[in-house]
Formats: sequence, structure tokens, C-alpha cells
Amino acid sequence: MDPLEHFSIPGLVYLTLSGEPTLSGLLAVGAGALFPDVDALSKEHRSYLHSLLPFLPTLILGLHLRGLPLLFALGWGSHLFLDFFTGVIPPVYPLSRRGWGLSIVITGPRNFGIELKLIERYPDRKHDYRLEIGGSFALAILTILTAIIRLH
Ligand SMILES: [Zn+2]
Repeated sequence: MDPLEHFSIPGLVYLTLSGEPTLSGLLAVGAGALFPDVDALSKEHRSYLHSLLPFLPTLILGLHLRGLPLLFALGWGSHLFLDFFTGVIPPVYPLSRRGWGLSIVITGPRNFGIELKLIERYPDRKHDYRLEIGGSFALAILTILTAIIRLH
């Protein structure tokens, strides 16, 4: 999942569910949602910041402090949730590098079916990539338009 999707999806949820959304709230959710991919600077993507070990204390602190810290933690949680469905997250990294995710595949139109599979593997080594972001770009534009409408 690319950064535009990671920002836009929780951003749209925040803009939809918050009674009085603010720009600082949207930026806190977005910063939290992008933060785990700082892991890309380490030797493995989806490692330290994709683990529950630093996330859960941050969430507990956010629940205690409320406001922007909580929005940051919820954005971080959205990243882990979304990555669980697009690969694996290693819940106790660095104690164990093993990660889990859920693969959902739809086949059809002939022999229509839905395949659910729990996947288990180790994080990918850092590598160069090429992202096709057309759909993500459209989603980001919708998020910006929604923010313009919802933020006063
Ligand atoms: Zn990630």
C-alpha cells in the first residue's frame, strides 16, 4: 500500500466520523498513518514500526492524553490494519521477525469464488520499487476535496 492510500483512507474516515474535524486533526491522523513507513529507512520494510510492541504503548498513551496524540495513534493503527490485508505485519518485531497477514482473492466471473488465506512470512528486505499510483492519486484528490468541504 502506498503513502497516498495510507494517508487518504484514515483521513476520509476521520473527516466522515468526526463531528468537528480540524486541519490539525487531519494532519495528526495522516502523520500517524505515514509514520510506520519510516521503517523503509531500516534494512527491512515492515519491521520496527509495523510491530505492536511500540504501537500498543503509543495507543495507550493516546487514549490517556486524547486529542491529537490519540488521532496520531489511530492513524498508526490504521496503517497496521491496512498492511495486514496487503502483506504481513510482524506483531512482536524485533523479538520475532515473523509476520502475518490475510490474503483475500476473488475469482470469476466463471467459477466465482472468494479465497481467504492467512499468510505468514518474514518482512521484505529493503529494495527499490516502482509504484503505480493512479488509483491512489484519485483517492488523494477525493480526500483533499472532502477536507475542503468539511474543514472550516
Ligand atoms: Zn507499511
